[in-house]
Amino acid sequence: MSKQTPMMQQYFRIKEEHQDAFLFFRLGDFYELFYDDAVLAARVLEITLTKRGKGDDAAPMCGVPYHSAENYITRLVEQGYKIAICEQTEDPATAKGVVKRDVVRVITPGTVMEGKAIQAEENQYILSLSIGIAQMGYARTDLSTGETEVGVTDRGDHEMHRLLHMDGLKEVVVDEAAGSHLPVVGMTMSTEMKEEIPSHMDHLYDGNEPLIRSAFGRLLNYLTHTQKRSLQHMQPAVTHIHQQHMQMDVHTRKNLEIIASLRERTKSGSLYGLLDFTKTAMGSRRLRKWIEQPLYDQSQIEARIQMVSVFLDNPIERRTLQEALQQVYDLERLAGKVAYGNVNARELVQLRKSLQQVPGIRALLSQLGESANEYGKNIEECAPLEVLLREAFVDEPPISIKEAGMISAGYNEQLDTYREATENGKTWLSDLEKTERERTGIKTLKVGYNRVFGFYLEVSKGSAHLVPEQYERRQTLTNAERFATNELKEMESKILNAEDQMETLEYELFLQIREEVQRYIPNIQQAAKMISEIDVLQSFSVASEEKRFTKPLFSEAGELRLERSRHPVVEETIPVGDYVPNDIHLDGERDMLLITGPNMAGKSTYMRQVAMISVMAQIGCYVPADLAVLPLFDRIFTRIGAADDLASGQSTFMVEMVETEYALQQASANSLVLLDEIGRGTSTYDGMALAQAIIEYIHEKNQCKTLFSTHYHELTILEEQLGRLKNVHVRAEEEDGNVIFLHKVEDGKADRSYGIHVAKLANLPDQVIDRAEHLLQELEQTEHRPTRHSSVHEQLVLFEEMEPASTKKRDKTAKRSKSEFEQEVQQLDVLNLSPIQALEKIYEWQRKINDSERG
Ligand code: ADP
Repeated sequence: MSKQTPMMQQYFRIKEEHQDAFLFFRLGDFYELFYDDAVLAARVLEITLTKRGKGDDAAPMCGVPYHSAENYITRLVEQGYKIAICEQTEDPATAKGVVKRDVVRVITPGTVMEGKAIQAEENQYILSLSIGIAQMGYARTDLSTGETEVGVTDRGDHEMHRLLHMDGLKEVVVDEAAGSHLPVVGMTMSTEMKEEIPSHMDHLYDGNEPLIRSAFGRLLNYLTHTQKRSLQHMQPAVTHIHQQHMQMDVHTRKNLEIIASLRERTKSGSLYGLLDFTKTAMGSRRLRKWIEQPLYDQSQIEARIQMVSVFLDNPIERRTLQEALQQVYDLERLAGKVAYGNVNARELVQLRKSLQQVPGIRALLSQLGESANEYGKNIEECAPLEVLLREAFVDEPPISIKEAGMISAGYNEQLDTYREATENGKTWLSDLEKTERERTGIKTLKVGYNRVFGFYLEVSKGSAHLVPEQYERRQTLTNAERFATNELKEMESKILNAEDQMETLEYELFLQIREEVQRYIPNIQQAAKMISEIDVLQSFSVASEEKRFTKPLFSEAGELRLERSRHPVVEETIPVGDYVPNDIHLDGERDMLLITGPNMAGKSTYMRQVAMISVMAQIGCYVPADLAVLPLFDRIFTRIGAADDLASGQSTFMVEMVETEYALQQASANSLVLLDEIGRGTSTYDGMALAQAIIEYIHEKNQCKTLFSTHYHELTILEEQLGRLKNVHVRAEEEDGNVIFLHKVEDGKADRSYGIHVAKLANLPDQVIDRAEHLLQELEQTEHRPTRHSSVHEQLVLFEEMEPASTKKRDKTAKRSKSEFEQEVQQLDVLNLSPIQALEKIYEWQRKINDSERG
């Protein structure tokens, strides 16, 4: 390879240090990318790939204009890439040799601070993990708001899964060893960072937990290394204390649809969507966080509920409060921008307008009693900052901080004199127009300005003969001539000078003000936190009023009693008044319900409803019921079949067993467990046996509140054997051969399954329905049925009867696979199998048998 130009040598030197990122290399008005970066970026961004240089040395190159770079950066970051922004660090006009360049910041998926990648309602997290022998430490930061949560958890797959599936997670920072364990796809992982918290950031974590220190340390080093700035807005880490929160695993959160609906994965159709009447973006983010982490501390919960009551009791004040909140901008992210140095005057005006609302909000809260006043008192006023910003900036400053016109008159004397000079100049110019018109008699004479020729006097071609001698021609147009005079040139330089000076001075003043604002970052953040909480609480009160929610009461004795309770999201999807409210009662004497009833009757809705109401109560909201007495749940587990299991590639049955195992292992007496049709994924006998064993286990060992729905009617006899288990059923009635769902939950077991009726509802061909009904009748008369009331057997046997031709074939294949099977069983190292591996094996065999039968 022949010798590279000095600039390309510079490029290689810088690229060497940023192998894992696209290097955006600033050349004039463009960021250029070279070599592999260029080839890949051209493809990803669909931009033209060109070449720089000639012959063999020609480098593949592509570029994006500096002013529209943000768009391209967003697109790359969204796809998980990193971008190193390399700027010219000296003025090219005065540079000797190659202009100095340096990487000023590396933008990574978790450190985007601007543009469309940042969603107002969503936090964007970067996570760091430190994996110990039995435990893991983690630190999770949202750089745009400066918040960090740290914690220690068990080092299990479930905890790992929970952390890695947090909403808004964009990037993970781990060391090499941990990295190889992580099943993370589509997320960047960064390694090789020191694990000590940098000394100037020591105040950000005051604990001693080594796993947290190393996780947070690595994260802080990574942020400093990539962002290359002070990060003054980083707030002290908040340690997540498990004991203070209700825990829900990823599956449960998804299944209860608390943040997003299952099908469309949208906010609407979720609890979050239902309760979001917040007025600020930070309020909406706070709400989301609260929903993700319900509380397990009665006094904290009651403090929130108390505020909801206050807002419900004072609708007029609430209205005024909402109006004030409406004027509050995203203070958290504004504080981040101030720290980052990418805030502009317009945003500082937004900051000022937001701060102006604070005294009003405080005053209002002080009128609403002691607890509201407590909230109010804690909102930082930042009064001197508000005064500064009010005095400094005009109401609608330009977006660019290099443009004059940001700073108010009266803020700076020097600036005022420059301004006066330009103002005077402008008056002088308009006077000049008048005097020259009179002097020359040219009625159409005009004073104008353009960037190339400066100020000029314009005269139409028709009046050209009237132009006096001392006019100097500057420019000829089709219809007019433009002239200058000495006088005009003098004034021009005065005005332009003053304008230049004005711009420079305004920029300097802006930087000074910004620095001053930086000192208030912690105060702004404090105000943001309190305001966002107030916003969520007023939002709860609006939802509670609109949707007729009731204040929940908490039972010391662990009682759960709901009267006329509803599922708040399902209720919204059906016509008003159609939702059938239901009661539930659980206590120490009766903590397990076995729920039977036909498909589509409302079993899983009923179960979810109980969980949903518990979540709502523990985030501090009112709940959809006429009366609600609840225990505090430390955890909620759900195993509810969902469509997305299929997509995840694991077998439904396997997922079911893993989830159940987790619940059995973790559920305490204070937990809520929902198991929906456990055992459905396997054959009838297996399924029923497993279901029974699981019920017995929970009843004896976990002793937690449990709702278990099943279509195995046989299981209802368990009521006689297990003291705290009760049968309930969702009522359905038959009328003229059609099933009518009453959605009413009543004591006792269901009488039958109505499977065929449901098939009818699903519009199966009449032929199939008729045949099935006929077969069912036959079966009911013969001895064929293994057990009475065994509707599932009925259904299975039905299908066998319908395919007599296949029986022979099945026998043959069953025989062949049996010998293979025997071999495999013989070779199995049973003592070294984990229960899960054993289940996997059983599942595999079952699939083989099914496959061979089908094929
Ligand atoms: P299952 O679990 O018994 O198969 P689901 O709980 O999925 O039944 O309920 C089926 C449908 O019935 C729901 O989508 C909902 O529209 C309706 N539904 C359930 N419970 C009620 C209720 N209490 N009131 C009115 N409609 C209900």
